[in-house]
Amino acid sequence: MSNEIKKLAAKFQKYLREEYSDIKTILKFRSQFQLLVSIVLSAQTTDENVNKATKGLFKEYPNAKLLSEANLKDIERLVFSTGFYKVKSKNIHSLSKDLVNKYNSRIPKTIEELIKLPGVGRKTASVFLAETFDQPTIAVDTHVLRVSHRLGFSTKRHDPIQTEKELKLLFPKTFWRYLSMSFVQFGRDICNAKKPLCNVCQFNNSCKYYLSVNT
Ligand code: SF4
Repeated sequence: MSNEIKKLAAKFQKYLREEYSDIKTILKFRSQFQLLVSIVLSAQTTDENVNKATKGLFKEYPNAKLLSEANLKDIERLVFSTGFYKVKSKNIHSLSKDLVNKYNSRIPKTIEELIKLPGVGRKTASVFLAETFDQPTIAVDTHVLRVSHRLGFSTKRHDPIQTEKELKLLFPKTFWRYLSMSFVQFGRDICNAKKPLCNVCQFNNSCKYYLSVNT
């Protein structure tokens, strides 16, 4: 990793800490189980949509035991508005059953164990661990991939695992759990996928992407 990239990473980190100092999840949950289910449901939809659906879902099925015993059709009805409701319903139903049958209703605390649960990928597990156990993890989603690659922090545009490794080398551990949420917000506010606001972006004079399309 070049010194230039290291300097840019340090400047970017400082900017994100100032700009998004109070960033936190807006998902509404009352237990680790509810948070995990909410994160699974949040794929391809907004957190606001998830909150609307989980309001009813958690009222009827607030814990793993009750959700594991629920009728699949009823779960589908309750999470319909989050999109991909059939897959999501099946996942949270099976996930609940696994938690009850294999983990005594306790949620595992490691990525390796979490990703064995239905519907839980590395990104979901990382978000969950960062949020609940304050663990230093980096969840790499489409925004993190895009922003990292455009700024030159990662070499593989579509490789979440490699990107996670490169980001971990570049940023201090103390920043990891804030990194994902602040990169995502920056991606939404400024570094949009289709129309990035490069003209107002403070990093345009050192951004690999900007320089490549403007020189
Ligand atoms: S200059 Fe443009 S592409 Fe680069 S980080 Fe800023 S908004 Fe994104």
